[in-house]
Amino acid sequence: MSALDDIVVAPDERLKTECEPIQEIDGKVARLARRMLRDMYAADGCGLAAPQVGELIQLVVIDVDYTSKGKNPYVLINPRVIVADGEEREGGEGCLSFPGITVPVRRPSHVVVQARNLDGDLMQYEAADNLLAVCLQHEIDHLHGITMLDHLSAGQRVAAMRDYQEALEAGAKPGDVAED
Ligand code: ZN
Repeated sequence: MSALDDIVVAPDERLKTECEPIQEIDGKVARLARRMLRDMYAADGCGLAAPQVGELIQLVVIDVDYTSKGKNPYVLINPRVIVADGEEREGGEGCLSFPGITVPVRRPSHVVVQARNLDGDLMQYEAADNLLAVCLQHEIDHLHGITMLDHLSAGQRVAAMRDYQEALEAGAKPGDVAED
């Protein structure tokens, strides 16, 4: 299966499902992380969560440096947002599971996240006012069945769904961004 065909595209119940914590960090988890990184890079994404490849477990991969500085992948196992504060900021977000649209999402500007890595070490990630702060929140939301559309007002969501329907009909694939 090609990397892009591996990505679950909305509407899909798996994108609305609470994911299970990972009990044991074994070879299966490491293989899934590699597969998700492959898919993410193939689609030019900066993050991907396990339910987006149909696996309902708490695993996220992120790389916000790929385009500018070369590969710098993070693998987050059972990530938890332990701080989310600072002024709320609105930014345009896309999602590999909603090809072809960008939507205006408001989120806290500062986050601290704890997660295990593939070695089982407990890591802490802190980000403020940057792509990583947005990406951490967006991907961790996916583990709890929440997508970027859930952050919109009712009116914004109707408009986003209409744009999304049009993008799908135009053949949008994961990684395609909105056209003006
Ligand atoms: Zn997403």
